Amino acid sequence: MNNIDLVEKAKGLVNPKNLSGETVSGEVGSALVIAKGNVYTGVSIHASCGIGFCAEHTAIGSMLTDGETNIKKIVAVGEEGVLPPCGRCRELMYQVDLTNADTDIILGENKVAKLKDLLPEYWQ
Ligand SMILES: [Zn+2]
Repeated sequence: MNNIDLVEKAKGLVNPKNLSGETVSGEVGSALVIAKGNVYTGVSIHASCGIGFCAEHTAIGSMLTDGETNIKKIVAVGEEGVLPPCGRCRELMYQVDLTNADTDIILGENKVAKLKDLLPEYWQ
């Protein structure tokens, strides 16, 4: 799957739903692809008290449920467009598989960075 298709996949997940007055899901969608070509997706959960999580977390959880760990490329998209991953998501991607340091992070149209370049002074 090319970057444009992956962005469109993530964009198609953006559909904010107020679940309880305290919690909104789907403000951000994420799609990732692994080397075998499998695509995993997820949506954000924005909840009170900091118990929510990013769309990337949901997509990574889906990938892990399928027994996979190595992300070839990943993107997150909100209503304003492509979003860079937060620090927690960057660290999560690295910690689930150290080879994800070479994951392509889609940052916008024609803009891609390696995870290792977004994790300065990363540790092993
Ligand atoms: Zn995040």
